[in-house]
Amino acid sequence: MPGKTRDHISQNESLLFEMSSPGKKGYQLPDLDVPQVDAAEALGAANVRDEIEDFPEVSEVEVIRHFTRLSTWNYGIDLGLFPLGSCTMKYNPRVNEAVARTEGLLWAHPYQPAEVAQGAMEVMAHLEAALAEITGMDAVTLEPAAGAHGELTGVLLIRAALEARGYARKKIIIPDSAHGTNPATAAMVGYSVQNLRSNAQGMVDVAELAKLVDEDTAGLMVTNPNTIGVFEQDIVKITSLMHEKGALVYMDGANMNALVGLARPGDFGIDVMHLNLHKTFSTPHGGGGPGAGAVAVKAHLEPFLPAPRLKTVGGQWQWDYNRPQTIGKVRAFYGNFGVLVRALAYIMAHGGPGLRNATLDALLNANYIRKGLEPYFDLPYKSPSMHECVFSDDRQAKLGVKTMDMAKRLIDYGFHPYTVAFPLIVHGALMIEPTETESKPEMDAFIQAMIAIAKEVESDPQMVLKAPHHTRTSRVDEVGAARKPVLRWKPTTLASKAAD
Ligand SMILES: *Cc1c(COP(=O)(O)O)cnc(C)c1O
Repeated sequence: MPGKTRDHISQNESLLFEMSSPGKKGYQLPDLDVPQVDAAEALGAANVRDEIEDFPEVSEVEVIRHFTRLSTWNYGIDLGLFPLGSCTMKYNPRVNEAVARTEGLLWAHPYQPAEVAQGAMEVMAHLEAALAEITGMDAVTLEPAAGAHGELTGVLLIRAALEARGYARKKIIIPDSAHGTNPATAAMVGYSVQNLRSNAQGMVDVAELAKLVDEDTAGLMVTNPNTIGVFEQDIVKITSLMHEKGALVYMDGANMNALVGLARPGDFGIDVMHLNLHKTFSTPHGGGGPGAGAVAVKAHLEPFLPAPRLKTVGGQWQWDYNRPQTIGKVRAFYGNFGVLVRALAYIMAHGGPGLRNATLDALLNANYIRKGLEPYFDLPYKSPSMHECVFSDDRQAKLGVKTMDMAKRLIDYGFHPYTVAFPLIVHGALMIEPTETESKPEMDAFIQAMIAIAKEVESDPQMVLKAPHHTRTSRVDEVGAARKPVLRWKPTTLASKAAD
């Protein structure tokens, strides 16, 4: 059709299996210049892989084009705003990628003896010091590989410290607004979880907390700012109350994007916390890549930190394994080193005032979006927003349209959906976090899209209920995909599809 774009390329991509043609290869080997031997004879039949049934046979250019076309269907942070609340999906400056690829750092090997790893060890020591300064804590371990892994490390530290006092205690209190990883962590460490209901402001209810804490309480896991993007205004009262009862306070620091340079958890009584370096400190988040869940502690927990620890002897960095009270290693070697390099590069490139500015911009942006959308969506908790704002779909649900429907419609407007239906304390949540890296025009475009959708809900709800309309596949059966996943391709699957 004249003038038509080559939609067939991006809209009807075949599976690799369908492109397959027997005998096609993506490689060519030179002729053998040694005698040919049978692999099964030489290696033993047990060590030779059988033919893989239906393995796709395609040329190099077919493979390259197939995956390159697929990559153009992806939505990523390099394409536009990624407003997923609770996830801090922010743009990360490329310069930090360049630093992580510095020759000596990129090829550093964990088995390198300390004498020839001094630079890498110094990077880690600098980062530990910077994170201790940012959080107001006394010591940092870079070993944990993710936020949830940091939680596990932190709660193991709490248990070790209480055990050293004579009694590990039995339970951990967790507010109902917490990320699901918090109760899972407490349970993995062997504590029972006691649920704490939030008050009308969406914060920890101090009176309720006081009723729950007793001699069996090991600690409280608190997220600050919490998952509705609200700063816990009674945090000093909360930490004092726990300490009076001999319990410790863990802070989930995944939301540090709202605090860096403004407030330090160490100053408001936190004993141990984690940081998601892949949320706050410049590692691309998502896609299942490596992360880092650095854990920061007050001095009284330092003896229990995972081994080994960095120390200097005669001006040289060494690994100290002689740590009698350590909880042990939580991960092979020393952490996801590349992530650590990015974090230090990001921190040093910004400097103190720069980090503080980034935080202020993150808060400004979240509040700008909140103001822009408040006339159109229900805002159940009116407390001041920090880095994210959480609406509910109450107004639209009365017309039969839910948060998920509007999120799907947002795809048609060219944006990644916001976080849907979390946190659980907000019914039908729309959780939005713009981060500091978005410009005013980008946020205005997002606000206009959301307003347009709110208007559609009133004038043409079917438009929203059936969205997305402009994507390759429209609404998919998500429950079916989760309950009955098809993970294995068989020629019969396609044949039966074609017959439909
Ligand atoms: C992301 C997040 C976590 C978990 O971090 P992972 O790195 O994904 O394991 C925990 N708590 C909160 C509040 C988070 O946002």
